[in-house]
Amino acid sequence: MADCIFCRIVAGEVKAHAVYENESVLAFLDIHPASRGHVLVIPKVHAESLDHLEDRYLGPLFSGVKTVMGLLDRALKPAGMNVGWNHGWAAGQRVGHLHVHIIPRQRGDGGGGIQSLIHSFVAEDLASVAAQIKTAQ
Ligand code: 5GP
Ligand code: ZN
Repeated sequence: MADCIFCRIVAGEVKAHAVYENESVLAFLDIHPASRGHVLVIPKVHAESLDHLEDRYLGPLFSGVKTVMGLLDRALKPAGMNVGWNHGWAAGQRVGHLHVHIIPRQRGDGGGGIQSLIHSFVAEDLASVAAQIKTAQ
């Protein structure tokens, strides 16, 4: 897509520090890293979000994520990594081309896990939540 910044990176029109590439995915450093070695892994094909990505690209994307995790592990030896993506504006997605964040973590870096993103939630009865979700199957 011509006006998509990540498609422009794939096309070579916008510079990025690529760390891995194959026929399906490109991985490059986040321009505003949350930690040293913060990488974004993207499908080369434009898809706004996971539900817009054709199924045949799912495997290659996650294979690419696994490969880049291995690269980071060997090269930077982080104590852990947060791996995931922001889906939709309310969840913090600001670039409309699916991208998986891989954020290397160090012991004592002060951050928590992704489940600690929201602090205001008051949990309700889990059985009724599960029942509501299953109605959509
Ligand atoms: P989101 O909030 O959409 O999940 O994350 C978008 C990420 O893309 C942000 O962390 C931001 O720093 C990164 N980003 C945005 N524009 C560019 C760019 O032009 N080049 C690179 N390398 N990263 C970008
Ligand atoms: Zn795009």
